[in-house]
Amino acid sequence: MIRQILHGIAVSAGIAIGRAYFLARQDEKAMVRRKIPVDGVEQEITRLMRALESTRREMEETARRIPPELKDQAGIIAAHLMICRDPKLVQTALNHVRERHFSAEWALREAVADIARAFSLIDDVYIRERVQDVRAVADRVTGHLQGRVAARLPEGEACILLARDLTPADTLELSPKRFCSFATEEGGRTAHTGILARSLQIPAVVGVSGLEESVSDGDLVVVDGLKGLLLVNPEQKILAAYEAMQHSFTAFQEQIRLRSSLPAEMPDGVRIAVRGNIETPDEAEAVTAAGGEGIGLYRTEFGFISRTSVPKEEELYEEYAALASKMAPHKVTLRTLDVGADKMLWAQRALEEANPALGLRAIRYCLRHQDIFRSQLRAILRASVHGSIALMFPMISGLRELRQAKAVLNEVKQELETSLVPFDRNTPLGIMIELPSAVMTADALAREVDFFSIGTNDLIQYSLGIDRGNRHVSHLYQPLHPAVVRSIKHVADMAHKEGIPVSVCGEMASDPYCLPILLGMGIDEVSMAPQAIPGIKHIIRNIDLDECRELLYQAHSAATSETVNRILKQALSRRFPRELPFYVSMLDAEE
Ligand code: PEP
Ligand code: MG
Repeated sequence: MIRQILHGIAVSAGIAIGRAYFLARQDEKAMVRRKIPVDGVEQEITRLMRALESTRREMEETARRIPPELKDQAGIIAAHLMICRDPKLVQTALNHVRERHFSAEWALREAVADIARAFSLIDDVYIRERVQDVRAVADRVTGHLQGRVAARLPEGEACILLARDLTPADTLELSPKRFCSFATEEGGRTAHTGILARSLQIPAVVGVSGLEESVSDGDLVVVDGLKGLLLVNPEQKILAAYEAMQHSFTAFQEQIRLRSSLPAEMPDGVRIAVRGNIETPDEAEAVTAAGGEGIGLYRTEFGFISRTSVPKEEELYEEYAALASKMAPHKVTLRTLDVGADKMLWAQRALEEANPALGLRAIRYCLRHQDIFRSQLRAILRASVHGSIALMFPMISGLRELRQAKAVLNEVKQELETSLVPFDRNTPLGIMIELPSAVMTADALAREVDFFSIGTNDLIQYSLGIDRGNRHVSHLYQPLHPAVVRSIKHVADMAHKEGIPVSVCGEMASDPYCLPILLGMGIDEVSMAPQAIPGIKHIIRNIDLDECRELLYQAHSAATSETVNRILKQALSRRFPRELPFYVSMLDAEE
């Protein structure tokens, strides 16, 4: 039994103790263009057929176990089973083994590429998206070929899920009841997998080097989601210390939750709106329970990436209307589809972009695929009569793109009016400020919208050139880099000059050290994962605006992020000595 401490990045606060299980193990070496000798062909075909059979059996078993409330996921599994039984994939792969003497793994990969090419020529988005399902099935079969069956998470015991990486779609597909925490080898602090961990309210650590080599299924592990550690088979006395810390963390959470329904008012009377970020409508209740005043960011794309077809307008309308009426009179801010980068639709994967984060993402995708965009806009506008809805475009790069998106919005409004469909004409329109180009043109943009919401996760990524999901550069992901601080300050100043409110909905808003800097800039609203709301309201209620302005003054004049971090850590540790050990901060990942 090997004892070890592995280091990673804390992405969701808390301590979890349990048995580890790998979702799957990758064997990259097997995924090369390997040829087999002629006399090995029959054996390779048998290997492929066996793996297909095991995949089929595994899927049938999963389909049987799926509870009725997870009907979307059941749809995915049924679709995957159909593909697994469909002769097209199987036959194409077998032909590649028989005729080109490819290994089973490579033959499968080639078969998927053939199907993707054929599908990419079809004009119908729905059909193009099927490639994603074919690829997912092929991945599972490859898993069986390599003898790495997806770990059957033990029944009745919440375990700790380990994986090389989890896509947001994986995280959505897995039932959170089956695991109480997760750790991954890949990933960065603000990648979407971490965002989902926060919304599931489970401790998580990502970017753990050596995870796959050092941990085996069934090992006892501690996930320290406060310091970003993974302890493998710890000694009894360390385990006892962690049990005590788990207890103190829970007690602290309970204590701050008692006062979380109080307004977020600073001692000098300044009132800040604190809202919640959600990825699915079910999370709205957690926002209200945590003391959030409505939804500051609904990442609507998660409703698209977790399923096999593009949702219809009617379905979206019903979902948005139900959410708006549930949250009324509080606001629900719906962000239009932000797909791309680490939140790919299947249709986008077929594009095989070299740099998807710089590719056809978010508003760019919507402007290219206006059928999808228009149907979402119609659904949002129609839902606007059921509560207080605000609409927001992601990744706007400048005035031209904003005007293009607004033109589509106006056409949709016109159509609704002509067909006498009721909607609220005054639905506020905002944009996310996530690109340096939007920062530099913030004055002009502010004159054409009703509010700004600063997406610091992407603003940092695009300002510093640091992939937010890449653990190799995560130490360079500096939220308080002078360029970032000055950018946010400039955006806030421009918004206020033009008389519009400004919110921050990126992870900086829930970081205990970054928050005072944002407050010092006069940010009107913050929005974050529901789990973070009570702790952030606690800080707001215990710090003066003047104190925040002084910290901002010092941060704004500092030349490096190290200086800013030091100033903030010193000042805030004095201010909140008892509380800060229970918060997760991005600043810790820099050290
Ligand atoms: C952001 O970029 O800060 C943001 C809130 O959007 P997302 O994390 O969904 O990209
Ligand atoms: Mg973003």
